[in-house]
Parts: sequence; structure tokens; C-alpha cells
Amino acid sequence: MPLLPDLETIHPDVHTAPFWEACKRRELRLQRCTACGRFRQPPLPGCPHCGSTGVEWTRSSGRGRVFSYTIVHHPAMPSLKGSVPYNVIVVELDDAPGARLISNLLDTQPGEIEVGMRVELSWDEVSPDVVLPRFRRPSHAGSSREPAS
Ligand code: ZN
Repeated sequence: MPLLPDLETIHPDVHTAPFWEACKRRELRLQRCTACGRFRQPPLPGCPHCGSTGVEWTRSSGRGRVFSYTIVHHPAMPSLKGSVPYNVIVVELDDAPGARLISNLLDTQPGEIEVGMRVELSWDEVSPDVVLPRFRRPSHAGSSREPAS
């Protein structure tokens, strides 16, 4: 049973490119305002809280919890037709308060996902140019795709 959307292309712009470049190095990096210190995700040209354009890219451990999720039954794009149903989760990261990352939970059936459940980053290289930050349940020990420390 397919559980994941097939996303082999991404289209970074000037604001999101640093995020995707970091992913290729297996580093989850999130935009943080250098003026007020707040995180923002998805990346934006300026801080919605204080208006500063100062930015740094802070590395996250990739550990967090499911803030929200949905199960997709109708493909949003023709290329996803063979992937439904799949999950889309919103992850709240432990070390990046305020930043919420939209991703997928690997190796999990739709009925097993719960708001608040612990998740860990798991890099998914879908092509040489596209490395996606996806997540697993921490109980999946022995994975060869644990985040680098
Ligand atoms: Zn700010």
C-alpha cells in the first residue's frame, strides 16, 4: 500500500533555497530572525513579528511532535495518483518553537497517527537533487537514516 507522495522535483526560490541546500547536506535548518530570535517556517523575506530582514539558518535536531495531520485520499497532482492515500503531518520541533514543518510520517498507517505523538527526522533522498526531511516514530530503532548529530 503506497504511503508516500512521489515528489521528485522541488522549486526553490531565493528565500527557500538555503533550506533545500541544507537538506542536501542532511541538515535541517530553519530561518530565525536575528533581531527578535523567533523562528519562521516556511521561509519568508522578513520577520512577521518585528519586521526585520535579518536572518540566520539555525540547525534543528529534527525531534518533535505531530501538531496536526491529514490523510490525503484525492491526489493534488496527477503524479500523486499512485500514492494515495498518504499522510501529511505538521511537525512542531522541540528546538524551534513557533516553526512548524509540513512533511510526511514514514512507515505509518493512517490510523496510527495521533496529534502529539513523538517523531524524529528521517532523510529521504528521492533523487540526487532532492532530499526531503520526512519523519519516523522514534520506536523505529535501527534505521540507517537517523539524523546526523
Ligand atoms: Zn523578528
